[in-house]
Amino acid sequence: MPARDPDWRERYSRQIRYAPIGEAGQLRLMDSTVLIAGCGALGCALAQHMLRSGVGKLVLVDRDYVERSNLHRQTLFDEEDADKALPKAEAAAAKLRRMNRDARVEAHVSDITKDNAAVFAAGVDLVLDGTDNAATRLLLCDEAFRGGIPFVYGGATASRGMTAMLVPGGTACLRCLIGAEGEEGDNCDTAGILPAVIEWVAALQAAEAVKWLSGNRGAVRNSWLSADIWQFALRESKLPAGYGGCRICGGSGDSTEAAVDMEVGPASNNVMGDVNKIGDCGVAMPLRRSVAASSALCGRDTVQVTLGHPIDLAAEAEKLRGLGCRLTENRYLAKAELPVPLVEKLVLFPDGRVLVQGTSDIARAEQLCVAFVGGASEGLEESLK
Ligand SMILES: [Zn+2]
Repeated sequence: MPARDPDWRERYSRQIRYAPIGEAGQLRLMDSTVLIAGCGALGCALAQHMLRSGVGKLVLVDRDYVERSNLHRQTLFDEEDADKALPKAEAAAAKLRRMNRDARVEAHVSDITKDNAAVFAAGVDLVLDGTDNAATRLLLCDEAFRGGIPFVYGGATASRGMTAMLVPGGTACLRCLIGAEGEEGDNCDTAGILPAVIEWVAALQAAEAVKWLSGNRGAVRNSWLSADIWQFALRESKLPAGYGGCRICGGSGDSTEAAVDMEVGPASNNVMGDVNKIGDCGVAMPLRRSVAASSALCGRDTVQVTLGHPIDLAAEAEKLRGLGCRLTENRYLAKAELPVPLVEKLVLFPDGRVLVQGTSDIARAEQLCVAFVGGASEGLEESLK
C-alpha cells in the first residue's frame, strides 16, 4: 500500500468535502495506482491531476526528452529541463515529487511496445492515455482490456479534442471504435495545438478517473465526447457495448449498435470521422541490417531506430565526440549533433533506442545509426553528405 501522508485530511480537505468523494473516496484514491502512458502535454496534465487528487502511485512511461518546443503546453517542464535534455518521464517525476514529497512516482524512460505493455499495466487500477499515436493507444487499450482495467482515452490536435473512458465488460474497446490501424491525419506537429484544448481533454479524463478510483463508478460518463474549443462545437455520442466478434471486448455486445448521437454541434461528424480527423499515425517499417526496428515519429521529422542491443552511453558518447559530434549528456541519454555538413541529431538511450532528428526518411536514419552508432565507416559517412 502506498505511503500515506499523515496530514492527508488537511491536504485533501476540500476534495473530501465534496460529498460524492468524502473520506471513504479519498482513502480509495490514496490506495490506487494509475499508469500514465506518455508524458507530453496530456500526460503532464493528467499526472498533475492524479498526484494532486491524492492517487497513491503514478507509473509514468515516456520515450522522449524535453525540448524548447514542448514548453508552451507541457506544464511539468521548464527551460532547465530543456537545456539539460532530460527525459520527460524523469523530469516529470522530479516535478511531481516536489508537489508531494510522499507521492510514489515511478518513471520509465522507454517506448511502449507489445513486449512491455503488459508489464507497465500490471497491477494498475486504470490506464490513462497521454500517448501521441494510434498504434500505442491500441496496444495499451488491448492490454488494459485483457487485464480487466479501464482505459481512459484522450487525444488533441489544433483546437480539437476528444475523450472517452472505455471499460472492459461495459463498453467497446478502442480498436472497435477507431479501427485496427487508426488513420494518418493532422497531429500537433503538423496542425499545431492550442494548450487550452489539452487542459480540457485532460480535465475530462481526470474527472472520469477520479470517479472510478474513488468508488463512484455509477457516475462514470458513458460517452465519446469531442469538441472544437475555437469554434465551440461540442458533440457527445453514447458508447456502444463490446462487440460480439471482437477478441478484445467481445461478449455481450451487439455489433449493430453503433454509436448513438446525443447532441450535435455545428462542426459535427460521426465518432469515426472525428477520430480520423484528429489523426494518429505510427508507421512500422521492415527490419534492416543491424537495426531491430524503426518507425517514423508522427509528423516530427524524427525516426526512432531500435537497435537489437543496449547502448553503453559513455562509450558511444566518447566515440561520437571523436567523430566530431557535439554532445549533450545526462545520466539518461546522450544527444549528438552530427558534424557539418550533416544536419541530423542522434539521441541515444541506454535501452537501445536512437531518435534520429532532422529526417523522416527511415532508410537514411538507419544509415546514420549504422555509421555513427554501429561502428562508423569512412565510405558510408562520406555517402551521407
Ligand atoms: Zn473491441
